[in-house]
Amino acid sequence: MRKIAFGYSTRCNIRCEHCVAADAMPDNLKMELVQAKELIAQMAAAHLSGISFTAGEPLIYLDEITELVKLCHQEYGIYTRIVTNSFWAKTAKLADSRIMQLKENGLSQLRLSYSRWHQKNINRRHVLNAAQSCQRHRLDYFISFVTDFSEADDSGEQYLRDHHLRYFPEPVILAGRAQAFNRRLLKSDYQANCCSMNPYLAPSLDMYACCDAGSHFSKTNFFHLGNLRQQGIEQLFQKSENNSLYNHIRNLGITAIASFAGFKAREIVQYRKCELCDKLFNSPDMLAMLQQEANAGLNLCYR
Ligand code: SF4
Ligand code: SF4
Repeated sequence: MRKIAFGYSTRCNIRCEHCVAADAMPDNLKMELVQAKELIAQMAAAHLSGISFTAGEPLIYLDEITELVKLCHQEYGIYTRIVTNSFWAKTAKLADSRIMQLKENGLSQLRLSYSRWHQKNINRRHVLNAAQSCQRHRLDYFISFVTDFSEADDSGEQYLRDHHLRYFPEPVILAGRAQAFNRRLLKSDYQANCCSMNPYLAPSLDMYACCDAGSHFSKTNFFHLGNLRQQGIEQLFQKSENNSLYNHIRNLGITAIASFAGFKAREIVQYRKCELCDKLFNSPDMLAMLQQEANAGLNLCYR
């Protein structure tokens, strides 16, 4: 199933200290609405089944995003999600009017970002208003609780529990502005770290095979698929789907690739997956070796 993270604009109304999207690109890029509609038509023709509107804060452009959601839903039957910081949900009444607008136009799901960094700029009550409005209007939602797993996040998590909200913890990605954060050693299970890798389309029309930290691998540009001004969407999807190393990331997992590349097991468990990915694929020498082995040695690493 083809899915994409659709960056309509990189503009955001707040400036979180941990933002991955920030600093890698100008923060005021935006597509034209007509162009976005044309791209969605092309994606539908390429059998896309899901779009996540993301990048900066999509709901700064509420009416335009609503039009795009409606187009996806009514014309093409594409599943839609919006990722938002809930700035628009200052009161229950305001939240209801936005949620009704989005629901009536066919939005499938809302993903609410929440963390101690977001909440320096946006009162957590807004996230609560947004979530409760989704519950009232039966719009599917979840809260993405971004954390560095420190005690500093306990009270924020408790707030979500106290209000019976649906949330999923997600590790802060140490890229973009969060690159400056102090890195705490992490020991986790020796897990595969497979990555589904949905592509990301930026407002510049550059398309990347990874929608998170990978779009910032500037030393190798490993995940850059191409630009839609020069190549068609079908061609770029195929590039993402047929690349042997990408498929090893999806199926074999980053842990096994790191082990193949010579990392010690005790070293591997100290890294989060995007950090490990950076060490493997954002280093020209290491990448050259892995590319050589993509259709050889790496094929033998499967159990
Ligand atoms: S993390 Fe989200 S809400 Fe915060 S600055 Fe980045 S895009 Fe905006
Ligand atoms: S592990 Fe690699 S492919 Fe997966 S999200 Fe992180 S940077 Fe992207």
